[in-house]
Amino acid sequence: MEKADILSMEKDLLCEYMKTLGEAAFRGKQVFSWLHAKKAVNFDDMTNLSKALREKLKENADIKGLKYIKKHKSLDDETIKYLFETEKGYIIESVLMKYSYGYTVCVSTQAGCRMGCSFCASTIGGLESNLTAGEIASQIYEIEKQENIRVSRVVMMGCGEPLDNFRNSVAFINIISDSDGAGISKRRITLSTCGLTEKIYELAELDLPITLAISLHAPNDDIRRSIMPVAKKYSIDEVLKAAKHYAEVTGRRVTFEYSLIDGVNDLPENAEELTKRLKSILAHVNLIPVNPVEERGYKKSSDNNVKNFSKILSSRSIENTVRRSLGTDINAACGQLRKSYKKI
Ligand code: SAH
Repeated sequence: MEKADILSMEKDLLCEYMKTLGEAAFRGKQVFSWLHAKKAVNFDDMTNLSKALREKLKENADIKGLKYIKKHKSLDDETIKYLFETEKGYIIESVLMKYSYGYTVCVSTQAGCRMGCSFCASTIGGLESNLTAGEIASQIYEIEKQENIRVSRVVMMGCGEPLDNFRNSVAFINIISDSDGAGISKRRITLSTCGLTEKIYELAELDLPITLAISLHAPNDDIRRSIMPVAKKYSIDEVLKAAKHYAEVTGRRVTFEYSLIDGVNDLPENAEELTKRLKSILAHVNLIPVNPVEERGYKKSSDNNVKNFSKILSSRSIENTVRRSLGTDINAACGQLRKSYKKI
């Protein structure tokens, strides 16, 4: 029988699990703290548990974390990209970014992705596997250990579509925000989606105070469908309706991501159209000059187009920021390092 994946259990579940082993529920809380506050990677480290209990855990459960493979430091800023391997042999990547307010980790939620966005490297080989909640959390813990730091913010913007791995993504959020674990406040967690509309409603129902980011990347369905296959299933109107609902239920402002691709979606008329679409939504737009991916043939918008686009949004009171392009020299855009590693 496969051993229990104890690292992926939310605290309540872990307490229930301890009961099935004939132990008191509070032992679950102790084990949870070992795993997620002290970041133990084996049962023998759990010194306040009896030897007998540690043996019982070893027999029945596994701590299915990640194996570190290598890291890649950026020369031009303080961004580091990591490659890890899952127990089943999937290669995944994560990015550490240093900001004035602290450390942020960008985690992957899947090995590969099946969304097929035409500018994104993560999706080139399709979806290989969903990551477990423990594998998503372990990216943060392994990076903290490597660098001897504490991570204060998390963005779910690495490889994969978090809402296509809904249950594990939500379990991950509950685990890392638990005050008996890593204690990373939900307000400091951002989940980014390409816009799986019914899942956005499902997420709103959970009323988690996380930030929802929606990858819009286009002001109309024609352009969106030409770069994002998911747009053939959900129209922009449907996505925006779901975003509005999310903002109303949770009271949290929604972020829209807009990767600027030269000649595709970065013209002044595109910006004008976008302002009309976002008029009635409490929104923040993140403008990201696209990171060129070798296989894709897209070009980054010129600085001038980026500036103009931002100016047009601001002139219509649409709050926006141009995202600092971190770590371009280390292939920090989604899926790029992982892909180059696998080619070798
Ligand atoms: N699947 C989720 C999260 C992963 S991608 C989503 O679609 O939101 C995180 C963000 O990076 C998304 O907005 C995605 O569209 C964007 N992205 C992917 N490849 C990019 C590239 N080459 N340049 C700029 N942004 C990119």
